Amino acid sequence: MKELVCIVCPRGCRMRIAEENGNLQITGNGCKRGAAFAESEVRDPRRTVCTTVRTAFPDVPVLPVRISKEIPKDKIFDVMREISRTTVRTRLGRGDIVLENALGLGADVIVTSNVLNETESERRKNDGTSACADL
Ligand code: SF4
Repeated sequence: MKELVCIVCPRGCRMRIAEENGNLQITGNGCKRGAAFAESEVRDPRRTVCTTVRTAFPDVPVLPVRISKEIPKDKIFDVMREISRTTVRTRLGRGDIVLENALGLGADVIVTSNVLNETESERRKNDGTSACADL
């Protein structure tokens, strides 16, 4: 018997999961989505990863990233290790891929912020301002 709190909606149903001959008996769920969550947690638990990656740019030394889809829970640390070995060397923006098909799991590591792009555009803007200020 395994107990699990459903995290699919704020109601947070407490579910009990019993396995018999490979079949799951789920009780305590308020809806079908909870049962699907419980089954996924037992048979193939998956999680998303949100973290940061190092960059080569001193003005933005780290860049926020996430994976494009959930991966098996037991692969999280492998993916984190791969991300920690990576350095972004171009000014990527939101949605750009840092690592394609990380570890062959079918999930890309993508940028979630335009902070590198904004910094560059801000620099251009400041250059223009300086030119105007010189007039
Ligand atoms: S089982 Fe259904 S009602 Fe209960 S927390 Fe999960 S999603 Fe919400």
